[in-house]
Amino acid sequence: MERCIICKKAQDAGIHLYTSFICTDCEQEIVQTDTDDPKYKYYVEQMRVIKETKIVT
Ligand SMILES: [Zn+2]
Repeated sequence: MERCIICKKAQDAGIHLYTSFICTDCEQEIVQTDTDDPKYKYYVEQMRVIKETKIVT
């Protein structure tokens, strides 16, 4: 199992984004969340962290 970067829970189903992991539940959440929703900003923020990590490593 891997730890989801959005919900921080250990999940066995999900996708890998660079070196990070997003569980299926969160992936669906991101897809369904309106871009005006404050939650969306949080998701984008989390994914920006992934990209920055990728550049560093
Ligand atoms: Zn999750």
